[in-house]
Amino acid sequence: SANKIGFIGLGQMGGNMAINLAKAGNHVVVFDVVQGNIDAVKPHGKVDVVKSPREVAAQATTIVTMLPSTPHVEQVYLGKEGLIHELTKAHFLIDSSTIDPGFTKKLAAQLAEETGATMVDAPVSGGVNGAKNATLTFMVGGSDAAFAKANPVLKQMGKNIVHCGDVCTSSLLLSSSHFFVATGQAAKICNNLALAIEMVAVAEAMTLGDKLGINPKVLAGILNTSSAQCWSSSLYNPYPGILENVPSSNDYKGGFASVLMRKDLGLALDAAKAAEASVPLTSATHQLYNMVVAQGDGMKDFSYILKFLEGKKAK
Ligand code: NAD
Repeated sequence: SANKIGFIGLGQMGGNMAINLAKAGNHVVVFDVVQGNIDAVKPHGKVDVVKSPREVAAQATTIVTMLPSTPHVEQVYLGKEGLIHELTKAHFLIDSSTIDPGFTKKLAAQLAEETGATMVDAPVSGGVNGAKNATLTFMVGGSDAAFAKANPVLKQMGKNIVHCGDVCTSSLLLSSSHFFVATGQAAKICNNLALAIEMVAVAEAMTLGDKLGINPKVLAGILNTSSAQCWSSSLYNPYPGILENVPSSNDYKGGFASVLMRKDLGLALDAAKAAEASVPLTSATHQLYNMVVAQGDGMKDFSYILKFLEGKKAK
């Protein structure tokens, strides 16, 4: 089953990633709990749909998972119909979800011990457009051998495949407990705390500029050729109508849900607490996304923070 690849979690990111694997000629075996998400992937190549994670593992030895958060990953790997019941030492698992690095570490160890299977963490950056265009950055935690094995699979879904270090022998020991970081997850969490803070910063600048009477397009152009330029200003501007094909120009639909950004900031805070790192802006930004979720806008893209700052009923 050389080009047979299992894929679980066909959402905003995973759906597009699985489509790229199918388009590249792989035989893809998929599972999701939402029928509509499965239907969107099916027409794009040789795609087989099965009824549980364990059936995916019965069909394919290389499996990618792209799930919302830690409990979903736990369910898919260790639940009643979970992967673990079919895994052998031939299986190779790539978890691209952004989850608790402590759980990743425990899961990889448990799978290796009980089944002989190898798991790497390979969370991504690049957003939904990166997933569509196969230009994602993958941050991979695992041994040299595991990285070499993951690389050709990830190359079909991304552009920059970065080996962050060995998931099992990572020297970064946090706090008192046996909390070793899964290196890909650690990198991803650090990236996303900077991303979230930058998004809030751009949203504050655009909101203030608007109130001061600067044309938002002119202001965005100035940010993008000045020292404040960042991904959130140039490729994902939160002000509607500056860029096409981003959530802010589509009622903040699609993209990266605010509830998922809150999750990532929570993961960063947990890790920072254990590592005794000072992250005051991460803490404040986590609270902002808590408020967005609390007012019922958790499913809106995280660039919605601009509307939150404007005051929802302001315009
Ligand atoms: P999503 O909610 O759109 O997709 C998740 C998918 O998993 C859905 O199709 C859902 O039905 C499925 N799912 C949930 N529970 C399941 C289960 N038990 N069994 C099978 N399928 C299940 O989320 P997303 O935006 O695609 O994000 C996925 C992961 O990638 C998250 O960890 C997120 O933090 C990370 N991420 C997202 C983005 C982004 O821009 N959206 C960017 C980088 C990283």
